[in-house]
Amino acid sequence: MVPLFAAADDAYLAGLDSAALVALVERQVARCVEHARKQFPRLPSPLVWCDLRGKSAGQAHFGRGGVRFNPILLADQPRAFLNEVVAHEVAHWVVHHVVRRRVAPHGVEWRTVMVGLYGLPPRTTHRFDTSRSSPAPYLYLCECRGADLQPRIHRFSERRHRFALRGGRYRCRSCGAWLCYHGRQDSDIWRMGQEA
Ligand SMILES: [Zn+2]
Ligand SMILES: [Zn+2]
Repeated sequence: MVPLFAAADDAYLAGLDSAALVALVERQVARCVEHARKQFPRLPSPLVWCDLRGKSAGQAHFGRGGVRFNPILLADQPRAFLNEVVAHEVAHWVVHHVVRRRVAPHGVEWRTVMVGLYGLPPRTTHRFDTSRSSPAPYLYLCECRGADLQPRIHRFSERRHRFALRGGRYRCRSCGAWLCYHGRQDSDIWRMGQEA
C-alpha cells in the first residue's frame, strides 16, 4: 500500500539533523490529523513528543494528551517511521476521540482508520531494516542455553567480525566454547503503539 502522506526519499532524510526530523514528525502528525478532520471535524490536535525510550516506536498517551515517538528509531529509519509509525499513533488518537467507549487497542475501529483513512496496513509491529545502522550486526553463538533453551547470541561489530574471518577466535566467558558465526542480523522488530 502507498501511504497517504509519503515521506521524502532516503537520501534527503539522511542529510537531516534530529531537530529537522522532529519537525517532519510534527508536520506528519498535523497532516494525519487534518486528513481525519475531513471526517471528524471536532478532532483535537495532539501534543507531540519525541522522548520515548525502549523498544516501542510510538505511543499514544491520552493522559498527557498527545503522541510520543522514539527518537532512536526516528533517526535510524526516518522514512519508514514517517510513513507508518506516525499514522499508527494518530489512528489511536482518532479512535480515542471518536469512539466514545472502551475498545481493543488494535481492534476493528483502529484497523478501519489505518486502512480506510490512511491507506496503511494495520500492523502492530514493524520489521525495520537495520542492515546499515546496527553497530554489531554479526551474530555468533556459543554453547550457553537460556531457560527457554535458546542459544545465547553474541553480537560482533564489523571490525571484530573481520578479525574472526582472518582466523581470530573468541571464547564465551560463561561456557568457554569458541564462538561460531551464525549469520547477520538485517532487521529488528519494533512494537508500535504501546498505549498509555
Ligand atoms: Zn557461552
Ligand atoms: Zn498501536
